[in-house]
Amino acid sequence: MSKLEGIVSLCKRRGFIFQGSEVYGGMAGTWDFGPLGVILKRNIMNLWWKFWVLRREDILGVDAAILMNPRTWVASGHTETFSDPLVECKECHQRFRADKLADNLPEHPTEKDIAEINCPSCGKKNWSEIREFNMMFRTKVGAVDDEKATAYFRPETAQGIFTNYKNVVDAIYPTVPFGLAQQGKAFRNEISPRDFIFRDRECEQMEIEYFVKPETWEDEFEKLLTDCRKFLFEEIGLPKEMIHEEEVAAEDRAHYSKRTVDVNFDFPFGMDELMGLAYRTDFDLRNIERESGKSMEYRDKNTGETFVPHVIEPSFGVERLVLAVLTAFYDEEKGVLRLPEKLAPYKFCVSPLLKNKPDLVVKAREIYVTLREKYTYVAWDDSGNIGKRYKKQDEIGTPKCVVIDFQTLEDETVTVRDRDTAEQVRVEIKNL
Ligand code: ATP
Repeated sequence: MSKLEGIVSLCKRRGFIFQGSEVYGGMAGTWDFGPLGVILKRNIMNLWWKFWVLRREDILGVDAAILMNPRTWVASGHTETFSDPLVECKECHQRFRADKLADNLPEHPTEKDIAEINCPSCGKKNWSEIREFNMMFRTKVGAVDDEKATAYFRPETAQGIFTNYKNVVDAIYPTVPFGLAQQGKAFRNEISPRDFIFRDRECEQMEIEYFVKPETWEDEFEKLLTDCRKFLFEEIGLPKEMIHEEEVAAEDRAHYSKRTVDVNFDFPFGMDELMGLAYRTDFDLRNIERESGKSMEYRDKNTGETFVPHVIEPSFGVERLVLAVLTAFYDEEKGVLRLPEKLAPYKFCVSPLLKNKPDLVVKAREIYVTLREKYTYVAWDDSGNIGKRYKKQDEIGTPKCVVIDFQTLEDETVTVRDRDTAEQVRVEIKNL
């Protein structure tokens, strides 16, 4: 079993992540988080919010609507250019992203570039023309089903921030540099969703648009890059050697970006993008000015100088972070998820040594309720034998198991077993 298969199987078996709509045969590119997965995911999202928003004065949060006026996507260029090159194998009729058929293809390959590549599905070489496929999901808003009713599920959270820039400046007037942060769903009709939760059609993003004075962008970029590293290494705890920063070359950057750093991670299927940091100049605010006719100028409180801020964007994908965490901390040999305590779905598991001894069960429940009040995420487990319980808690990443036995009834101590060392120590209940 490959490492990825091991992770997928663990996620399903223990209630972290299920295929979306599995009971009906699934829905490609969608995933559902189960009882443990939802805690892991929220732990990651909460750490992010705490790190970027709650602990800083210069970044504020927003939560914009997923459905936005379609002019948003005209202004941002998504209607015109948010597309991937689509190609069909004329033999087996499978469709693929042309730029992903082999390594080192340009972002928009020509038919000549791919002519000699074998179809990954049937092995033949008989390709259709390449056409651009817009990845936005369309819907109709309101009861009238005409062109004017067309709207889109947002393909990124960023535009919900840009469109609120003026509202926030008018309402709160933060001092530049300042950032606006948002977490939320984004939808992309990916041609080939793949690699478990890595490339999805519905995913969750965490993005910041950081508004700066144009001439300061280089310094601010460096500071944000340092903060991204701090978040990934110190907050999430990802191992440094699994992270690789890549200065994106000019020809691969968006045309408006003067600097982009992709932060790549060693996923089980190879190195790929975990998150990105991009300098977007005044591209987005200028687009909004043009489309809305409203000024996006900012007036410096001290000097009275006016300017349209430039923007630096740290952009994270939640599912990719979840997958990076699972990859980094899953010890496949021992079947243990060595999650840092702050990420673990449960901090403790409490259980009576024997399920059929009422005295033990009552005492254990008492301790469970007390710990749960304090730490919220505490598991109760009285199934199977103690060995099986340890194995299960190891698999879901619970750092400590607390066991109540006959000695507990005599001297108010319990056994605490450590996930990583398997060491057991006696601890007084009052010191838990
Ligand atoms: P890729 O090149 O992998 O398609 P991207 O460069 O298009 O990604 P961005 O548009 O910069 O990605 O999106 C920002 C972040 O959102 C990515 O770094 C990633 O973490 C996440 N993300 C984007 N698309 C998806 C997706 N289809 N599934 C899961 N996460 C995604």
